[in-house]
Amino acid sequence: MYQKQIEQLVILQQIDAEITDIRKDLEGAPKELQTLEQQYKDVQERRDQTAGKIENLRSQQSHLGQDIEDDSSRIKKSKNKLMMASNTREYHAMMREMDNMEKVNRLREEENAALMDELKRQQELLTSEDEELSTLGTRLDEMRKTLDKRMAEAQKLLDGLMKRRKAAGEIIPKPILSRYEFIRARLRHPVIVSVGEGVCSGCHILIPPQTFNDLQKGKQIHSCPNCQRLIFWSEHLPSTATEREEA
Ligand SMILES: [Zn+2]
Repeated sequence: MYQKQIEQLVILQQIDAEITDIRKDLEGAPKELQTLEQQYKDVQERRDQTAGKIENLRSQQSHLGQDIEDDSSRIKKSKNKLMMASNTREYHAMMREMDNMEKVNRLREEENAALMDELKRQQELLTSEDEELSTLGTRLDEMRKTLDKRMAEAQKLLDGLMKRRKAAGEIIPKPILSRYEFIRARLRHPVIVSVGEGVCSGCHILIPPQTFNDLQKGKQIHSCPNCQRLIFWSEHLPSTATEREEA
């Protein structure tokens, strides 16, 4: 009877470790999706900003082009009128005006070249942001499609484990089970540990000889006086002792 209880406690502990893992997955999976969704939104926002900048640059460029064109035709007209200048003063004044317009247009051409550079840069950025969006979009679709399935599978596993947990719990006496739950809620894993050579494998401290003697008798379930974990003598459960200590 004692042996069976110890066995079931160890099994219960293994089940609980699996339950913890699955719960983590169940909680983590939707968070992964949220993170990816946020990432997608961020890139989309950046992409829209870039597209806005490009639109703005194009409109600047079109205004600039119009101004250049307007002044070019004005300069052409002035050149034609130059012949009709009635005196030198008027001629010089017209020349000065033309020079000024040409100077302004040269500046505009420079500005236009700078705009072209910036436009090219923003267009390259837009292309890479579109690519990034497309990659993220594919990943997002994939994740959305598999998430439900993954969650359902995890839930099924969890349901199965909960059933096994209940079955294991029925074999363990209520007070022992309560102690197990109490320790589980307050201490780090593991809850039940083996004692070999008189040392608790939970806290690695020597247990009192009297407790060790009682433990070896295998009559009742003891706790480690130091860490309060449930303990059993490793000889009582040789198959699980080492395996569990690794965990
Ligand atoms: Zn201990």
